Amino acid sequence: MTSPIVRFAPSPTGRIHIGNARVALFNFLFAVAHHGRFALRFDDTDFARSREEFARGIESDLAWLGVVPHAVFRQSERVALYEDAADRLRRSGRLYACYETAEELEKRRKMQQARGLPPIYDRAALRLGASDRAALEAAGRRPHWRFMLEPGVVEWNDLIRGPAHIDCAALSDPVLIREDGSFLYTLPSVVDDIDMGITHVIRGEDHVTNTAVQLQLARALAPQAAAPIFAHHNLLVGAGGEALSKRTGSLSIASLREEGYEPLAVAALATLTGSSDNIHALRSLEELAQSFDLSHVSRNPARFDPADLETLTHRTLALYEYRDVRERLEALTIVGRKAEPLWRAARGNLARFDDILTWWRVADGEIAPIREDDSFLKDAARLLPSEPWDETTWSVWTSDIKTATGRKGKALFHPLRLALTGAESGPELAALLPLIGRARALSRLAGTSE
Ligand code: GLU
Repeated sequence: MTSPIVRFAPSPTGRIHIGNARVALFNFLFAVAHHGRFALRFDDTDFARSREEFARGIESDLAWLGVVPHAVFRQSERVALYEDAADRLRRSGRLYACYETAEELEKRRKMQQARGLPPIYDRAALRLGASDRAALEAAGRRPHWRFMLEPGVVEWNDLIRGPAHIDCAALSDPVLIREDGSFLYTLPSVVDDIDMGITHVIRGEDHVTNTAVQLQLARALAPQAAAPIFAHHNLLVGAGGEALSKRTGSLSIASLREEGYEPLAVAALATLTGSSDNIHALRSLEELAQSFDLSHVSRNPARFDPADLETLTHRTLALYEYRDVRERLEALTIVGRKAEPLWRAARGNLARFDDILTWWRVADGEIAPIREDDSFLKDAARLLPSEPWDETTWSVWTSDIKTATGRKGKALFHPLRLALTGAESGPELAALLPLIGRARALSRLAGTSE
């Protein structure tokens, strides 16, 4: 494949949720896997609802996930191109002015339905003469503009759905320009896809019908240009099958970040849910890109279970090497010679990254020891080997305690864990003990420091 150019084109009318992130990741991973380019394009021609703060928020949500675009565009800065395309369509008779109000259209649709006809726009505006239009304009009406579809079936080979076709006779001519002169997303999207040389349009299956319209538009505007290859993937739905919404903020990337989930866990789940690949933890997006394949995407809705985020965050953390998290540990002031061995000891015991602080305090700070059996702990303290300690110290020490006290199993180990860590469970004590060190261990076991 020659190197692909793809785009993620959100409208900045809210922050993105995990379903939107799925679209972004599909495009980004496709670009990474095929050494292509990934553009972030804000479809912000809806001036009433688009906000710059949402655009900035979406960029930072993507950055948190590790999705970094090669270029960022805003449609609001490219309106001259769309005006030019609209003029060309007007000149060729494919874009025509309509004056119906929303209420009039609604009434007409109801009448069509009552007569058993499909609710398709009847092109009444084409029958208006120059004087009718002048009269409507004089009465204060402003036109909206529709693209005249050609009759016939539009076909394409969808990378996910296989051979696809839409009969345009069943569609209304789409409105491209609103009464206030602003563009709906359809025309700008086609103009930009041509101008940017987009090779693959990977997006949700809610856009399948738009594809027929966009292919006709592309042919009308640039008959010579090769059409992009389309891939329409299943949509992510909630555990109960409900659609996700940008406006309600449900499962927004910002809220998942706030809740402390790992970005790679969110990315893996957003990508692998609803595919034939097992959902599994990863060390990098690069790794996810290597196994990413559009042909693995299923045709069924992708049901997303937030509970999987817990498991996957835990497993992702357990996979990280110290070098993967060094900077994040430094930000928590987990530094020095104990930082790396502590990470290795505790990484399998974390529900959230910040939980490492608990084990850092065990290794290098103050805790509240739980002393349940003072005389046993005093015996254990007496038997503590002298330093230097290493990962064998724990087994040497506990077998000495076993010999001296006759205890074994839980009765031997549990009181030691409670006193040394202040917790019921946690990382292997063989790994923690040398980090805790003799002085700390003594004071936790017996309340003394030598
Ligand atoms: N702005 C459109 C959306 O967010 C883009 C669709 C497309 O990828 O073409 O749904």
